[in-house]
Amino acid sequence: MNIHEYQAKAIFSRFRVPVLGSHLVRSGDNIEQFCESLDAQDWVAKAQVHAGGRGKAGGVVRAKSKKALASAINAMLDARLVTKQTDAAGLPVHAVLVEESVQIRRELYLALLVDRECGQVAIVASAEGGVDIEQVARQTPDRIITQWVHPGAGLQPSQVRTLAYALALGKDQVRQLQDILFALFELFVSCDCSLVEINPLIVNGEGRLIALDAKINVDDNALYRQQDIAGLHDATQGNRDEEEARELGLNYIKLGGSVGCIVNGAGLAMATMDLVKHHGGEPANFLDVGGATTQDRVAEAFKLVVRDTHVKAVLVNIFGGIVRCDLTAQGILDALQAISLQVPVIVLLQGTRAAEGRQLLENRHAHLRLANTLTEAAQLAIRHASA
Ligand code: ADP
Ligand code: MG
Repeated sequence: MNIHEYQAKAIFSRFRVPVLGSHLVRSGDNIEQFCESLDAQDWVAKAQVHAGGRGKAGGVVRAKSKKALASAINAMLDARLVTKQTDAAGLPVHAVLVEESVQIRRELYLALLVDRECGQVAIVASAEGGVDIEQVARQTPDRIITQWVHPGAGLQPSQVRTLAYALALGKDQVRQLQDILFALFELFVSCDCSLVEINPLIVNGEGRLIALDAKINVDDNALYRQQDIAGLHDATQGNRDEEEARELGLNYIKLGGSVGCIVNGAGLAMATMDLVKHHGGEPANFLDVGGATTQDRVAEAFKLVVRDTHVKAVLVNIFGGIVRCDLTAQGILDALQAISLQVPVIVLLQGTRAAEGRQLLENRHAHLRLANTLTEAAQLAIRHASA
């Protein structure tokens, strides 16, 4: 789960990671009055969306007068911001973070993430922080250094020194980095994060290290024990269909290809997508209807997938274990009653009550086709999707 910059910065403050003083303005607030109440003159307005790349897209604007600040905020609020990390429609801005504008001596990059290869938290740092870190990663990967924290031993002072040396920090800043890294590591573990990223971590005019940007991703599987963070979920920042699926308890991720996939079980869904790709197709989505799915859920899943206008064929792959194939088939028939199906649907039913399920679907709809193997189903779906 993703949260906003201002929310991540509040968590940073709690763990004593230095951030700037700031104010949050929301849609509906009296902007002019708010700007009048400020005492300093030089501010930065930052659109709060679940995407980076705002700096280059007009989502981070410096304002040197109250009037300029008010107009920057008004331009952002209730508009949509398109950055290179969003799709063409962009994301709606309902809040703007107003921070003092600071003098920046250096922009560094710092991130903590889970390295699944070795099962450890990796600390990634670069002296080349700022808005072009992706380019640094592509063109000069040697400027990015990594330290892995052993879960038993924890973060070691020697690792802090290695990172500080790579970042070419002065003596006083090494101590600051040490405090920041220990605080971030504690935050990362206790909030069940999958990513904490600070880009840029700046050295300001007085030589102080400050997190100027903040990104926190929390592992969805841990949200049950991170109730405070779960409460920060902002439904306006997600894909509308993904949000709807979430409410229905379906695991749906939109991908952009033309073969819609409806599968029971995450592993089988991954394997189905692999096979679609293997035969030259592109999956339109990942969708796991769950191991103990019901007729209703299949019907809802079906409606969700065919609503995507990129979908040119649907591949339904159900392996009946606990799930009964006849109930799945009934779910498909229910969905067909509710929608006018325009694309071919290839169905593979195997396992519990597969024969009954197939019987239910036989000759029921001009667009329905039954397959006997997964390869046959994938090939049929791809052929129809590219026809
Ligand atoms: P994004 O990563 O979405 O582009 P950032 O918060 O990293 O947004 O801001 C982009 C750039 O704007 C930063 O790299 C920094 O140079 C500048 N910036 C951001 N906040 C401030 C601030 N408070 N004072 C001065 N410059 C800032
Ligand atoms: Mg940034």
